Amino acid sequence: MRGYLVAGNWKMNGSAASIDALMTGIIAGAPVSSGVEVLVCPPFPYLSSVAAHVAGSSVALGAQNVSQYKSGAFTGETAASMLRDVGCKYVIVGHSERRALLGETSEIVAEKFQAVLDVSLQPILCVGETLAQRESGQTQLVIDEQLGTVLSSSGVDAFANAVIAYEPVWAIGTGMTASPEQAQDVHRYIRAILEAASETVAAGVKILYGGSVKGDNASGLFSKPDIDGGLIGGASLKSADFLAIAAAAATLS
Ligand code: PEP
Repeated sequence: MRGYLVAGNWKMNGSAASIDALMTGIIAGAPVSSGVEVLVCPPFPYLSSVAAHVAGSSVALGAQNVSQYKSGAFTGETAASMLRDVGCKYVIVGHSERRALLGETSEIVAEKFQAVLDVSLQPILCVGETLAQRESGQTQLVIDEQLGTVLSSSGVDAFANAVIAYEPVWAIGTGMTASPEQAQDVHRYIRAILEAASETVAAGVKILYGGSVKGDNASGLFSKPDIDGGLIGGASLKSADFLAIAAAAATLS
């Protein structure tokens, strides 16, 4: 089966000392279960030190962003090949903070998604609607646009090596989690879009839920048939909180 992925997105948080302590805790308590993969996505400057922590463990390393360009005169950017060099397995693309605050369009996200695949890493494509969009009945339209742009540029087979994260913007960092039923409805819709193009790819792709996931709501969310784990922000910054979420996945796997 698909198994669970529990991914921590640390955003722009931490210091060398705090990340060292966080990783010591995560490595000590990460579930040893073939049905759950634990992933941490630190800020760029700490990728190498976190790579040293995860070496020899089952915890995977990922990045929070990537350039859509391969190399060259792009000051301040980081190429996918560099992320592979330092040991990343996954790269988050299209997080709502980057779309809303840093001007990333779905076209740019699609280029980043392909850039990650081109170096044989796995993109985690984030999609999700704002509160205004949900309240005006546009959730499916938003998913159509955000997922459809990537689907039409990279093709459905690309999703054999990719992960999708449904992150309703209104639930990110707000404490307002989508109910398991609300999340499942959108996850089913996302999988159905892929099913229309390839049933095999749709059956294999992991679709994570993100938005105020905590130890006490993870189990309800992860027990839904189309929810294959979580992309965790705030609760990934404390090892006990993050491990409680990973443990919920391990219990269900
Ligand atoms: C996120 O930013 O990806 C996220 C899900 O954040 P939080 O868990 O804090 O809502």
